[in-house]
Amino acid sequence: MHQHDSATEILTQAVLRYAVDRMRLDPPPLDRSLPQADLVAMAGRTITPGGIGGLEALRRFGEVMAPACISVDHPRFLSFVPAAPTEASILFDLVVGASSIYAGSWLEGAGAVFAENEALRYVCDLAGLPPSAGGVFVSGGTAGNLSALIAARWRWRRRAGGRHDRTRALVIGSANAHSSIVAAGRAMDADVIDVAVDGRGRMTRAALEATIAALDPVDRDRVVAVVATSGTTNAGIIDDLAGVADVCAELGVWMHVDGAYGGAGLAAPSVRDHYDGIERCDSFIVDPHKWLFAPFDSCALVYRDPQEARRAHTQHAEYLDVLHEGGADASGADTDSAEDTGHDELWNPSDFAHHLSRRARGLPFWFSLATYGTDAYRDAVETTLQVAHQGADLVRAAPHLELVIEPELSVVLFRRLGWGPAQYKAWSDRMLRDGLAFVTPTGWRGETVLRYCVVNPRTTVDDIRVIIDSLADDPGVRP
Ligand SMILES: *Cc1c(COP(=O)(O)O)cnc(C)c1O
Repeated sequence: MHQHDSATEILTQAVLRYAVDRMRLDPPPLDRSLPQADLVAMAGRTITPGGIGGLEALRRFGEVMAPACISVDHPRFLSFVPAAPTEASILFDLVVGASSIYAGSWLEGAGAVFAENEALRYVCDLAGLPPSAGGVFVSGGTAGNLSALIAARWRWRRRAGGRHDRTRALVIGSANAHSSIVAAGRAMDADVIDVAVDGRGRMTRAALEATIAALDPVDRDRVVAVVATSGTTNAGIIDDLAGVADVCAELGVWMHVDGAYGGAGLAAPSVRDHYDGIERCDSFIVDPHKWLFAPFDSCALVYRDPQEARRAHTQHAEYLDVLHEGGADASGADTDSAEDTGHDELWNPSDFAHHLSRRARGLPFWFSLATYGTDAYRDAVETTLQVAHQGADLVRAAPHLELVIEPELSVVLFRRLGWGPAQYKAWSDRMLRDGLAFVTPTGWRGETVLRYCVVNPRTTVDDIRVIIDSLADDPGVRP
């Protein structure tokens, strides 16, 4: 199997050609999902005792499976949070796959971990975190939020000196926090309570204080973390981070900032001041696979004090102990040697999240940053902000449309006057069916509205115009 015979050579060329051809499609076809029954009929049996051969499997993927996946990088894929990986990051994803790197430990993957840490340093610098800060790339924001909150709970228990060993934890978020915070609460068997948001969907200092004041003393003692969102997924609204930081400091509670989508805006000088206070957080996440131009799946999870995360997450087993030899854990003491000096030679990415084996999924992001430079990132994020806001100007100018709220980042919420849920759905389905755009309705305070999210520097104002113009004609559906 490992012999590089002529069949392997042919397959190598075919797969590489496929990857390069896909990468060069500008734009790629939008495509759409198909029902299971259609896929069964079209793809046939693919896994057989004798194998169908790589070329045939590649053919079926290219002809049947790939067109049944929506191209998230299409410039008019504006639903949810799209993706727009750079050429450099895609190419390097191929290299990571080919390199068989175990990136869970320094012993096995020092070079890769070093490079990932360079990329994490860029993220820490964006947020204004100190040199001792650091963390790990995990699969996504959901995994990042869970791991950060586990670390927060661990610090709370440790500081309680045994008093809270059996106490159920309480996490405070906002009504507009991402669903993964509630999911983390379920996984941790912790309670999650919501702070009421203001008219723009923002968590303010006053509302957070009111929520905490309303807790009885027993519950107040159970608060392990406050989660602020730096760019809500639905509307791109940034919470009052400085206010949250003040409250967390007063209470001695962990401050986590979920910037899975919006954290990328830190790179844009035009909105950087909206994030004031983020530099005081205990942990922060941002997904490079969202608005930082990296392929799936990649979330940068960073901690102000990585040692806290290490205490919470390090797995101990006889066969793993060699990974910690000579380090803080082997000495048996809680030495914080890494804290003052930056990262030591025992930087084991496994120790900073709920995982063990891991792909070096931060490398495509690192390679792209190294290739293009951080100025290009700044400019690309600014470009998407500009296009989103120019699109909002078109909405303002269109007699049939109305902005729902003033956009803060690259998400725009708007309504089509006279339409209800049925018209929105019919229009959205038709746009996808015609291969024109993928824009889905969302909810805003009980109303069905439209939403677009720009993270792709190839999305232009003309792309937004196509969407806006198509909304002029009523699809003829009655609610
Ligand atoms: C997308 C998102 C998440 C979840 O991230 P995944 O990578 O999809 O797991 C969490 N929080 C916010 C604010 C998000 O936008």
